[in-house]
Amino acid sequence: MSHSSTPDSKSNSQNQADSNSAFSLPKIYDPSVEEPRWQDFWRRHDLYKFDSVDSSKPTYSIDTPPPYPSGDFHVGNALNWSYIDFVARYQRMKGYNVHFPQGWDCHGLPTEVRAEQTFKIRKNDLPPSQFIEICRKLSEEYIQRMKEAIMRLGTSCDWKLEYRTMDPEYYKLTQLSFVVLYKSGYMYRGEHPVNWCPRDETAIAEAEVVHIERQGLLYYMKFGNDDNSLEIASTRPELLGACVAIAVHPEDTRYSKRVGRSTIVPVFGQKIPVIADEEVDPTFGTGAVMVCTFGDKMDVKWQKKHGLPVIKEITENGRIDTSDPRFKGLKIEEARRKVVEELKKAGRILREEPVKQNIGTCWRCNTPVEIISRPQWFMKTKQMTDEVTASADQLRWVPPFSKKRLIDWTQSLDWDWVVSRQRIFGTPIPVWYCKKCDETLVADENHLPSDPRRDPPPREKCPKCGSSDLKGDTDVFDTWMDSSISAAVHAGWPSDKALFVKLFPADLQPNGLDIVRTWDYYLLVRSLAIFHKAPYKTLLINGMVRGTDGRMMHKSYGNFVETGEVIKKLGADAFRQWAASGGATGYDIPFRWNEAEHGKKFLTKLWNIARFITQDSTTGANAPKLTQPSTIDRWLLGSLQELITTVTNAFDNFQFNTAIEAVRDFTWHSLADDYLEAVKYRLQPDSNPTDSRNARFCLKQSLLVICKLLAPICPHITEAIYQEMQEVRERRSIHSDGWPEPDKSFQDNVQMQEGKLLVEAIATARRKKSEKGLSLKSPIRKVIIKTQPSHLGMFEANQEPILRTIKAESLAVEETPSSEEGITGLTVEIVP
Ligand SMILES: [Zn+2]
Ligand SMILES: [Zn+2]
Repeated sequence: MSHSSTPDSKSNSQNQADSNSAFSLPKIYDPSVEEPRWQDFWRRHDLYKFDSVDSSKPTYSIDTPPPYPSGDFHVGNALNWSYIDFVARYQRMKGYNVHFPQGWDCHGLPTEVRAEQTFKIRKNDLPPSQFIEICRKLSEEYIQRMKEAIMRLGTSCDWKLEYRTMDPEYYKLTQLSFVVLYKSGYMYRGEHPVNWCPRDETAIAEAEVVHIERQGLLYYMKFGNDDNSLEIASTRPELLGACVAIAVHPEDTRYSKRVGRSTIVPVFGQKIPVIADEEVDPTFGTGAVMVCTFGDKMDVKWQKKHGLPVIKEITENGRIDTSDPRFKGLKIEEARRKVVEELKKAGRILREEPVKQNIGTCWRCNTPVEIISRPQWFMKTKQMTDEVTASADQLRWVPPFSKKRLIDWTQSLDWDWVVSRQRIFGTPIPVWYCKKCDETLVADENHLPSDPRRDPPPREKCPKCGSSDLKGDTDVFDTWMDSSISAAVHAGWPSDKALFVKLFPADLQPNGLDIVRTWDYYLLVRSLAIFHKAPYKTLLINGMVRGTDGRMMHKSYGNFVETGEVIKKLGADAFRQWAASGGATGYDIPFRWNEAEHGKKFLTKLWNIARFITQDSTTGANAPKLTQPSTIDRWLLGSLQELITTVTNAFDNFQFNTAIEAVRDFTWHSLADDYLEAVKYRLQPDSNPTDSRNARFCLKQSLLVICKLLAPICPHITEAIYQEMQEVRERRSIHSDGWPEPDKSFQDNVQMQEGKLLVEAIATARRKKSEKGLSLKSPIRKVIIKTQPSHLGMFEANQEPILRTIKAESLAVEETPSSEEGITGLTVEIVP
């Protein structure tokens, strides 16, 4: 048995263990054997089942993020799932009926693109139903891979609650939520400019636009006639064809005579007005700015405000739509070159200068986003800003700064949420339109799910004009429409009212900082609109995992780590310790191999301690039992109660790093280095039976409590040790056993202080021996302990543990001279 970290004593301990056939914990802790073994045990016993019948336990519900089935369960996911599982296991041990589902957010563009690549087709080569079938199959393959990774991590979700947003039972509810919101006036169809990805040929939401900086060119162009010209600077001359006005600041004296008059657009030749608007920045370019429909959000605002016409110059696939044969059909970049060429030919370019541009790009494919107007479905989220802010303010955010991220985001939004997408693999929008009068027919709530691309409309004739020429919507919903009702779906909405009361709002909303402005935001607006309350109580936000060098993790940087690789090498319990100890929740953390390796080392230490302690299988009169515990026993048990309090508080506050550090510190130092060393002699066959029983009781008790406190973070090794400590194995699990409560009778301050002093004296004497080059086992003549008068009696009463642990022949306890008094007044000397 090893209590110090020297390699020597470690090999000794293993030899000692080999000679004792009573051991049934294997000599070496091998996670590749133990982890699958206990995972299988949990599965066989359906241990993490949500008990929907048992109403005696309070529920704790988790709205687990449904990941996108990409096939790769990366380290960032694994960090997120580790946090979730720590909470789930802790709450379960605290006596809660934990609802921990796992879902998959299936719909979306990446799968469509992958289907096109895998089968070398374009989405429109096949009928939608066949294309969807291919996407479903691909999703299923990727789900299986990720599911295995989640299982290997030791996650305690209830697989009976698994769901897929692409399944009709699920998307039926997405459609239902739409119908409900349509009826209450939150959903509307309209033709408004929206962000558009020309590569993916679909509308995208503001949350899906990623802003980047790039170097561009600012072109100074001459508008108007030679005798009445106007100089305009723009980075996008290709939009000249869609130019509908020139705007200047009302107080800009350079242009005051121009306002209200008109000018001519070069190359394209249309006549446009010069207007005044306070939002023009007179210091940019020439102070006169082109208004094009639509170059950017400002154009959208000015077009509306000044009632300007709309010219749709850019098509949905990013080409120029004009009757002018010089530009017709050109791609945006080509058109820019061509227009500049024509401007130069006409002598209309005055100069060009480099400029830093901030442009919006598509989050999926990085293509610069355009603004395109076509009929779309919207949710009225803009009017909800105050309500969202007030609601976010009431919730518990861990860490608190993540709340600001959501509030800032909601207040920065300019437009309503565009919920329709011009794609195929998504939840169909259950709506039909009258081709004659454009009336909208929304599906009946009782006839969902429905796919208007294929299913007949709810009525044969248009209720407004009687026409039977009705056409189903071919668009689908934004995937956030699916995932933003997850909390309600878990809670059995709309049919299971009793369950809904129990599970909604969810107790925990755990997700990465990167999706606060999407998932957390969309969940909140949808829930406020449908249920008039927030869908969650506490938000546990994790930071991003950086590469081993601290930079963002990226395959091309060589700092990329795969979860599977870490688990294969060190085991899930070691990986989970890295996740717990990485830092405070919400902050980015780098992946550190040495942290995980340190975790593995700790498991080996704990395993060795457990092998030592569990070799004691004494029953009957000599079984471990506590009667008249000694000073050091009381100190250990007192410290154990303090540990319970510390770890419980840490879990209650999601401070996983505090929890793991406290358990490791106690195990390594208080239990192994201090207590075990000081009671070894009491475990010898010739020792006093009461002393022996007490020591063995304290060791077992500590091991059991350590395992329980560690079980949420290291579920496998703690289960293995726990089973070893049971009379009948595999009858119950540590994870369904109760969470330990501190026993106040061991928390006597005076006794704790005396115990601490005794432990400190023994540790100091041992250190002094080693400083003098003496082995711990070599006998010495004398120990001299000097202390304050109030502690003299305690040291005298504890002669035996001191002498026998230090291997000294005699002990002298003396009063500390008043001049040497420290806080405890303790000094220790040894005489070899
Ligand atoms: Zn895109
Ligand atoms: Zn009609």
